[in-house]
Amino acid sequence: MENIAKNLKNVLEKIEESKKFSSNAEGQVRLVAVSKLKSIEHIIAAYQVGQRHFGENYVQELEEKSQSEKLQNSCPEIKWHFIGHLQSNKAKKVICLPNIFVIETVDSVKLADILNNASKTSNKIMNIMIQINTSNEPQKSGIIPSELEQVYAHIKNSCKNLNILGLMTIGSYEQSTNVDDLNTDFKNLIECKNKLVEKFAINPNSIELSMGMSHDFDQAVKMGSTNVRVGSLIFGSR
Ligand SMILES: *Cc1c(COP(=O)(O)O)cnc(C)c1O
Repeated sequence: MENIAKNLKNVLEKIEESKKFSSNAEGQVRLVAVSKLKSIEHIIAAYQVGQRHFGENYVQELEEKSQSEKLQNSCPEIKWHFIGHLQSNKAKKVICLPNIFVIETVDSVKLADILNNASKTSNKIMNIMIQINTSNEPQKSGIIPSELEQVYAHIKNSCKNLNILGLMTIGSYEQSTNVDDLNTDFKNLIECKNKLVEKFAINPNSIELSMGMSHDFDQAVKMGSTNVRVGSLIFGSR
């Protein structure tokens, strides 16, 4: 196994360092350790050195891991982030998983309605993020930026069992390797947030930004990310 404790420490230190340059310098940045395709032992090793938030992409894998007795006994306070594409027919299942903290990938009004109904049935308020396809790539999920106001208003008005934590993007690989300039996908996400804040007169601190992965989380934090999703840098390549 990789030296998970050391890797985590390095990532956390880099986050703190980058945060100093950020508009969010006074705020918190949450590290989500992305454990997809990694074993329960990897997760437990990270949990034992203090990591609490973990991200998974596949419903079946999250189902198996979150329901594992061994994991539940070792990681009672784990907080799961679902960060993969969620098909409507699996939406109900995710709502009911133990210790599910947030679904970061809500990308349609239809999916929001299904999640809302499932949450209502389970007597829950579910945290969600709205995923935005900032790079406008056809193979990526997420709404396009111009749909955001309508989707946000729908969820606020009609999905009383959903709590919008913020906005999420993956961004294009090209932008993530762009070290000289600011990442335009991250800029787009920030712009989306600014528009929402203005249009709906909301407190800017109440809208999180989930952006940044292993190769670009430091730039994302400098630009104001509050939630970075880091996998391979912590657990090794997949
Ligand atoms: C896999 C994945 C990550 C983590 O990617 P790394 O490059 O391993 O850090 C983050 N976000 C999403 C949506 C992912 O699918």
